[in-house]
Amino acid sequence: MKRNSTQTQNWLARSLVSVWHPCTQMRHHQDSGPLSLPLIPIARGEGAWLYDFDGNRYLDGVSAWWTNLFGHANPRINAALKAQLDTLEHAMLAGFTHQPVVELSERLSARTGGALGHVFYASDGASATEIALKMSMHAWKNQGKPRKTRFLCLENSYHGETAGALSVTDMALFRDAYAPLVRRSETVMSPDARQALPGEQAVDVARRAAAALERALQEKSGDLAALIVEPLVQGAAGMAMHDPEYLRLARGLCDRYQIHLICDEIAVGNGRTGTFFAYEQADIQPDLLCLSKGITGGYLPLSAVLVRDGIFDAFCDEDLTRGFLHSHSYTGNPLACRAALATLDIFEEDDVLATNRKRAQKLAAALAPLSSHPRVRHLRQRGMIAAFDVETADPIFSRRFYRTALENETLLRPIGNTVYFMPPYVVEDAEIAQLGAVARKALDVAICTG
Ligand SMILES: *Cc1c(COP(=O)(O)O)cnc(C)c1O
Repeated sequence: MKRNSTQTQNWLARSLVSVWHPCTQMRHHQDSGPLSLPLIPIARGEGAWLYDFDGNRYLDGVSAWWTNLFGHANPRINAALKAQLDTLEHAMLAGFTHQPVVELSERLSARTGGALGHVFYASDGASATEIALKMSMHAWKNQGKPRKTRFLCLENSYHGETAGALSVTDMALFRDAYAPLVRRSETVMSPDARQALPGEQAVDVARRAAAALERALQEKSGDLAALIVEPLVQGAAGMAMHDPEYLRLARGLCDRYQIHLICDEIAVGNGRTGTFFAYEQADIQPDLLCLSKGITGGYLPLSAVLVRDGIFDAFCDEDLTRGFLHSHSYTGNPLACRAALATLDIFEEDDVLATNRKRAQKLAAALAPLSSHPRVRHLRQRGMIAAFDVETADPIFSRRFYRTALENETLLRPIGNTVYFMPPYVVEDAEIAQLGAVARKALDVAICTG
């Protein structure tokens, strides 16, 4: 990797002074030791690739933090945005409405078969989580159940990093430093299939987890507003996958014990797991649904919370304080909605779910040889998400792997000892093959040097 152009040096130096990078120990960008992390100024993107100023390119195997669906600088989304830009860039959504937000709401609702007919907007995933929690609690209060103010989440859950979202995020790294600000929720057993005991299948783990959920509900449902889950794949946990049976059982239990089911599809929605929404694979409907990340094809910050009639109706009243008291300045931004509409157009025009099935098979074939690697455990896949765990005691395995992959024109950023693949839906056969080959090489290099 050459990194010596004056442009690279210029942006690198200035970024380190003035930009505070997310989820990063900034010292690691300044050090040169084994903990050091490269900081790469990006010049432009095209399709599944990012290009720097030194002639290096990187195959984006993680879709720009799981947001990009149809490639960087997609000509169709670009054209839609340029037209929107000349029409209306923004208008406040209190007291006003506009074509992109109406059409997007209708089309998202239609994707739920009309079951979730009301859409509330914000700008990022964590805000969608906050909205779902507030909405659930407030709906119960409006329905005469003011005690229902607490939430259940799964072990190793991730629902965002603002103070409210952290209350349902079971990740020590993100939560512990801010514990005094966080009102922790109860965690229940994750259905993560890797916990299968000898002789158990994924579905058996799902049933055990559902039994644990029922015990928690028996004890606490009177104080509980909702259960929040990431359907089928717990992303930030390290692509922990579970059997759809868990969602079916959880849906039934939420009904029986009268709590809402919130599906956080911020990462797994928009076709990522093979169906447009992951919950469809369990043949259920949530009460509240959170979307973000891929919703704009990875273009602009936008999130949405979809709810069913009963919850929406609980807020309709003469009394202002029974309304949903929440807003963000950029709620329903027309440019972001337009990018989301252009993204939905591509899903329809290109029959993306069908072509992704073939793409997912090719990804499976490219990764299959890794399953016999002596250090690889639990190779798994759900649609356009694949992952495996690496048996190693090296505390900086992920860093070594990441660096080697970059040196081989590939962006793969393991979560701890889990290597995962979440490419945009435009990856071609040769690029899929590259993901498999580079993963193999980076694995061997990381293990050798570790
Ligand atoms: C990324 C993510 C969030 C948070 O979204 P941000 O836009 O990063 O705030 C919430 N839930 C899940 C499942 C996510 O993957």
